[in-house]
Amino acid sequence: MGRLFGTFGVRGIVNEKITPEFALKLGMAFGTMLRREGREKPLVVVGRDTRVSGEMLKDAFVSGLLSTGCDVVDVGTAPTPAIQFATDRFNADGGAVITASHNPPEYNGIKLLEPNGMGLKKEREAVVEEVFFREDFERAGWDGIGDLRKENVIPAYIEAIKSRVDVEAIKRRRPFVVVDTSNGAGSLTLPYLLRELGCKVVSVNAHPDGHFPARKPEPNEENLREFMEIVKALGADFGVAQDGDADRAVFIDENGRFVQGDRTFALVADAVLRERGGLLVTTVATSSLLDDVAKRNNARIMRTKVGDLIVARALLENNGTIGGEENGGVIFPDFVLGRDGAMTTAKVVEIFAKSGKKFSELIDGLPRYYQFKTKREVEGDRKGIVERVAELARERGYTVDTTDGSKILFPDGWVLVRASGTEPIIRVFSEAKEEGKAREYLELGLKLLEEAMGP
Ligand code: MG
Repeated sequence: MGRLFGTFGVRGIVNEKITPEFALKLGMAFGTMLRREGREKPLVVVGRDTRVSGEMLKDAFVSGLLSTGCDVVDVGTAPTPAIQFATDRFNADGGAVITASHNPPEYNGIKLLEPNGMGLKKEREAVVEEVFFREDFERAGWDGIGDLRKENVIPAYIEAIKSRVDVEAIKRRRPFVVVDTSNGAGSLTLPYLLRELGCKVVSVNAHPDGHFPARKPEPNEENLREFMEIVKALGADFGVAQDGDADRAVFIDENGRFVQGDRTFALVADAVLRERGGLLVTTVATSSLLDDVAKRNNARIMRTKVGDLIVARALLENNGTIGGEENGGVIFPDFVLGRDGAMTTAKVVEIFAKSGKKFSELIDGLPRYYQFKTKREVEGDRKGIVERVAELARERGYTVDTTDGSKILFPDGWVLVRASGTEPIIRVFSEAKEEGKAREYLELGLKLLEEAMGP
């Protein structure tokens, strides 16, 4: 039996791997599973990001669902978290997002959702895969074919976010925010949300355009160079940039400085845990800053394998308060069981407004850590090599956490050696309170990796 799904959904190049036939069959497979689970006419919410191939693939996928007797609500173009929100809000039996997140424009993909809006569970993915490869579809009779209706979920999504922050406090300060939505799905939500929250808003790259004409949709420092200059030149309080499907938000301070995702995550987690306490969930690759934040709010912290879906599942299963990753994806589990760039931005705006401080002061007020990252191209048994790193480290008397990869722990820092899930590389990532120590730990990780790889 073949595999379709990666860490969250299936992705590939359009009209090579991700064709209309593929989308049709996946829609039929998903619909077949839902039908066999019991309900006569399951309801599925479907939406997409702004990619050129989005409408083509969505229509094919929807045809597949209708043919198996599922009813469909097509929410059109919307951020991934808004589609997750709609799936939960409409009491659907499942959902689907046609998106390739931050990948280049020639890519697209499909993420399937649980009734609560979270990514599909592994066990149910396996069922969809089996139906897909066996082509064992449940076709409805002519009079059992599903109904299709269209609905705009964006106003309800924006209202729901507004109800979760202190709009009056934001209006009093009236922050000046520059927005870059990467011509993606966030173009339809974030500039409007911020205006309704009482911000002064200037938007950049905010016309929906699946060619991504302005910048690559991954919101990293390299792709945001121009935006960083714009934020500074306009004299804004801060800038916020999103990826193509708007589940992530990355911030630029008033000096045009790129803020690492785990620092804004820590800022948000600190505020949320101060109010509500409880459990913070993050991955082994996120800064120790999150441990500091949990500790000072008397909250617990749980560290999982890397992956937003894994964090979302852990939040659900353990009744967590807030979760996130180092790439600027924050999850508010009582709102949407997935990363939500707009909710993150609203919370950051609220924190900023209430603090009376500059954005850079808020970020610099968090404990400082130094981080170094590097990678090695490795052919062959990457998993075995990473396991060998753990063995070698233990032989030398170090403590090793093998939740995901090999994380060697020191009193004042750590180094993580981990195989990439998508590329033939092994990453080495270190962190410490002192710059020299962080460098030293990176060197140690590299040395053990080279030893593990052998001559
Ligand atoms: Mg994304």
